[in-house]
Amino acid sequence: MSVLVYCENAGGKFKKSTYEVVSYAAEIANMLGTSLTALSIGDVAEADLPVLSKFGASKILHVANDKLKQFVNMAYASVIAEAAKAEGAMVVVLSNTFSGKGLAPRLAVKLDAGLVDGAIALPDTSAGFKVRKSAYSGKAFADVEVTSSVKVITLIPNSYKVVEKSLAANIVAFAPQINDNSFAEMVKEIVRAADKVSLPEAELVVSAGRGMKGPENWGMIEELADLLGAATACSKPVSDSHWRPHSEHVGQTGISISPNLYIAIGISGAIQHLAGVSSSKNIVVINKDPKSPFFKSADYGIVGDAFEVLPKLIAAIKNFKSVNA
Ligand SMILES: Cc1cc2nc3c(=O)[nH]c(=O)nc-3n(C[C@H](O)[C@H](O)[C@H](O)COP(=O)(O)OP(=O)(O)OC[C@H]3O[C@@H](n4cnc5c(N)ncnc54)[C@H](O)[C@@H]3O)c2cc1C
Repeated sequence: MSVLVYCENAGGKFKKSTYEVVSYAAEIANMLGTSLTALSIGDVAEADLPVLSKFGASKILHVANDKLKQFVNMAYASVIAEAAKAEGAMVVVLSNTFSGKGLAPRLAVKLDAGLVDGAIALPDTSAGFKVRKSAYSGKAFADVEVTSSVKVITLIPNSYKVVEKSLAANIVAFAPQINDNSFAEMVKEIVRAADKVSLPEAELVVSAGRGMKGPENWGMIEELADLLGAATACSKPVSDSHWRPHSEHVGQTGISISPNLYIAIGISGAIQHLAGVSSSKNIVVINKDPKSPFFKSADYGIVGDAFEVLPKLIAAIKNFKSVNA
């Protein structure tokens, strides 16, 4: 009996959300009095695997198979299910990322498991097994009781801190059965914006809306984001108008994010926008209209014209950085 965590990588490198989910799963294993097995599939170099022990995995299963170098949803779900059965896992944990959201339901069916998608806290095991998850696009919580013997949980990025444990790494090659039917659907090519911070995982996000007037004014948004090491985001009308790519659209019909800091510039704060950003830990709103509804959800607000505020903010950050370099 153990807890199994699936360790996602991007281009052969583990993501920050992977360290969070390993730390989270290690604590569940600790609560259940068992150990944590980490599963890595694909292109991660063997030398990079021991880092998973640093966050609490006492055993690391490594699947190195040429057919599994690229993410294939059906095949990966089969491999994770096989590993879970081989390890006798009672809880299987994944990140609630684009891949994790696709894998978890398939995995739950294969393991006949109850699924909690979008967990934001450790389970409460004082009576049964209850997990708190985000509901109604982050506007509410739901405490879900899972009664199945095997449980699948996806953890929302940025909702659990990375905790170092430093166990000794025990790396074991795992050779799953791979069925050709699992490759009926394949991703042919993945084009990554390699130089940019990934929006779903970003700790800092600079976001802008229709108040920026047009795509030609996004230089200031990008400059501020670069200075802060932040990802860029936008409101729906901005991406609908092709001022920015759809991959930046946050909200009810876009990506849901929960960064430590969300800076909203020239965005009115419509309910559909808030649905995707309201679980941000700190929200800063810059808007020229003091009655903008976004100010009600803000931790800090600047009432002012973005075209006057942003150059001053950028200059102040540059000055701060040069003084504190
Ligand atoms: C079913 C449905 C789903 C939707 N899903 C989403 C979603 O996922 N995400 C989303 O964002 N929207 C979504 N919307 C749209 C949403 O209702 C709003 O229309 C949208 O969020 C408004 O975008 P905005 O704030 O950029 O633009 P606006 O509403 O036009 O607001 C612009 C803001 O900029 C301010 N401003 C103007 N000039 C300046 C300046 N110079 N300096 C500073 N501030 C300035 C204004 O005061 C105003 O508050 C959805 C709508 C529907 C019906």
